[in-house]
Amino acid sequence: MISQEIRKETLPDASGHFGPYGGCYVPETLMTCLQELTGAYQAARRDPEFQKELKHYLKVYAGRPTGLYFAENMSRTLGGARIYLKREDLLHTGAHKINNVLGQILLARRLGKTRIIAETGAGQHGVATATACAKFGMECVIYMGEEDMRRQALNVFRMRLCGAEVRGVSNGQKTLKDAVNEAMRDWVASSGNTHYILGSALGAHPFPMMVRDFHRVIGAETRRQIMEAEGRLPDEMVACVGGGSNAIGFFFEFLEEPSVRLVGVEAGGYAIASGQHAARFQGGRMGVLQGCKTYILQDEDGQIEPTHSVSAGLDYAAVGPEHAYYRDLERIEYAFASDEDVLEAFQFLCRTEGILPALESTHAIGYAMRRAPEMDPDQIMCVNLSGRGDKDVSEVERVLKLEKGGGQ
Ligand SMILES: *Cc1c(COP(=O)(O)O)cnc(C)c1O
Repeated sequence: MISQEIRKETLPDASGHFGPYGGCYVPETLMTCLQELTGAYQAARRDPEFQKELKHYLKVYAGRPTGLYFAENMSRTLGGARIYLKREDLLHTGAHKINNVLGQILLARRLGKTRIIAETGAGQHGVATATACAKFGMECVIYMGEEDMRRQALNVFRMRLCGAEVRGVSNGQKTLKDAVNEAMRDWVASSGNTHYILGSALGAHPFPMMVRDFHRVIGAETRRQIMEAEGRLPDEMVACVGGGSNAIGFFFEFLEEPSVRLVGVEAGGYAIASGQHAARFQGGRMGVLQGCKTYILQDEDGQIEPTHSVSAGLDYAAVGPEHAYYRDLERIEYAFASDEDVLEAFQFLCRTEGILPALESTHAIGYAMRRAPEMDPDQIMCVNLSGRGDKDVSEVERVLKLEKGGGQ
C-alpha cells in the first residue's frame, strides 16, 4: 500500500511542498535569490559534469564511500538483530555535514559566487563550511549566536584557523535561530556575489530538497553495501533527527521499500514536557518558522518554545518539512531518546565497539539498544552513525561527574 502512495522522486512539487509542508515563506527580497538558486540547482543536478565533480571531491576530500560496519560485539551483547553502523563519523570534519557543504560550494562556484555565508549552532556545520571554503578559496562568514560561541569556543577557533570570519549574534536567545535570521539578512543584501549554505534539510525551498539530495549518497551506499554483505535489504533503519538531513539522506533510497521499517529518533532531553526536550513530533504542531511550514515546538500563541537536548545538534524547535510529510503518511516512524538513554548508549558503544559516537548519533544508538533485543537474530538493523564524538567528550565527562553527585 505504501509503495503506491509514495513517489519520492516527484517531491517536493514545483512550489517546494511536501504535501501541506515546506514551501517558501520569505520576504519578497529573498524570493529572487531563492528562485535563482532553484533554477541553478535544477540544471546542476541534471548535469553529468556537476555530478562527476561532486563525486570526485566526495571521494578525494571527504573520504567517501564510508564503510557499513557490522557491529558484532554490540549485536551479540544486545542479543537480537544483526546491527550495522553506517560510518559517516569517519568523514573529513567528523560528520555527514561535509556531503552537503561540498555540494553547495560546487554549486556556488558554478554560479560565479565568491563569498559563502552560513549559520551554525553547535559549530559543526560552521566548521565543515569554513573547511571547504579554505579548500576552494572562498571568502567565508559564519553567523553564530554569542551564547553558542561561548559554549563551542573550540569550534570557533577551528573556523578561524580555516580563515573564516565568525560573526557573533547578540539578538534574541543568542543561539541558532538568531544566527539564521542574521544570515538571511546578510543574504538579502549580498546575493550578487554570495551563496548561503544552509546546514540541514530545513528552511525555504529549494534548501530541504537540495540538502536531502546531497545526502542521498549515504542511503545509496548503504543499499549497495548491505546487499553485498547480506544479500538482502535491512528490516529496520534508524537515524537521529535534528533538522533531519542525515536521516532523510539515509532513508531516501528505501522509502519505496515497504519491507524496510524506517525510524527517526528525536531528542527527548530531560523529559517530554514544555521546554525540556526537542522532540517536535511529541508535542509540536504545524506552523511556519524560518521559511517553511512544518512541525514546530510552540506555545498556544505561536511563540517558539525553548528546547533542550544534551546534544547541541538536535536542539532546534523545527523539523525538516519532508519528515513531517512522511510522518503523516506513516512511512517514517518517530521515536525519541532521553539525555539519560544517550549517556548510557554513548558509554555502551565506546566499551563494546571502541567507537565514540557524536551525541546526536547516540540518540539512534540509544533507540537501537532498546529495539534490537525485540528483533530476531536473523533480522538486520542499519543505524546511521552521523558523526564522531571527539567534540563531545568533555561534555560527557562533565555530565557524568554531575550524575555521580560530585557537582563539580
Ligand atoms: C548536525 C548534526 C546532526 C543533526 O542534523 P541533521 O540535519 O538532523 O542530520 C546529527 N548528527 C551530527 C553528527 C551532526 O553534526
